[in-house]
Amino acid sequence: MAEILLLGTKNTHKTAELAEILAGLPWEVRSLAAAPALPEPEESGATFEENSLIKASYYCHATGWTCVADDSGIVVDALDGAPGVYSARYAGASSTDADNNRKLLKELLRVPETRRTARFVCCAAIVHPDGRTQVETGAVEGRIALEPRGQAGFGYDPLFIPEGYTQTFAELGAPVKQRISHRARAFRKLRLYLEGLDESSPSNARRD
Ligand code: IMP
Repeated sequence: MAEILLLGTKNTHKTAELAEILAGLPWEVRSLAAAPALPEPEESGATFEENSLIKASYYCHATGWTCVADDSGIVVDALDGAPGVYSARYAGASSTDADNNRKLLKELLRVPETRRTARFVCCAAIVHPDGRTQVETGAVEGRIALEPRGQAGFGYDPLFIPEGYTQTFAELGAPVKQRISHRARAFRKLRLYLEGLDESSPSNARRD
């Protein structure tokens, strides 16, 4: 019988995206809807890696299933890496995407186009009930637009122009994002890790 792989996120967009990337593996992929109701863990880490491990460990320990979780955000060079791990709450604890985008544009008001370089980063962690862990990182380079453009996606998508394009992620939409996004890149690496596990016995799994 296939082992259970729990996707530790309450974000339904992410669940669908991740289920697609991880499809076809000999794991029974489940969403949090299939787990007992649990409060969300506090994302108290200082890095994307720490936060992804906090979330994956929390759901693994709570359910006894192997669990995958990610943490992501946008890193802006002219702001010394901000908003970084605070991307979701950049403009305050209950800020909306529009609030966060407004704050980012304000902070970059006098920063010229050549210095608006940024990247989306995603760390995807997996924690097994026996304590083994693996973290994979994906990133996409780009720059921050002068004003929001486009309707697709979420978060900072209307402000992010990926390298090699002139449109924002919100203008380019899902097909481009699914190919080059930080999350797609991190989870494709995680899929390779899981494929490697299937070729060896669980006791031979990598620990790096
Ligand atoms: P988390 O990984 O769910 O904690 O996401 C952190 C925050 O980073 C989100 O609320 C968004 O503001 C931002 N973010 C992460 N990934 C993306 C993306 O693909 N597009 C736009 N914003 C993103």
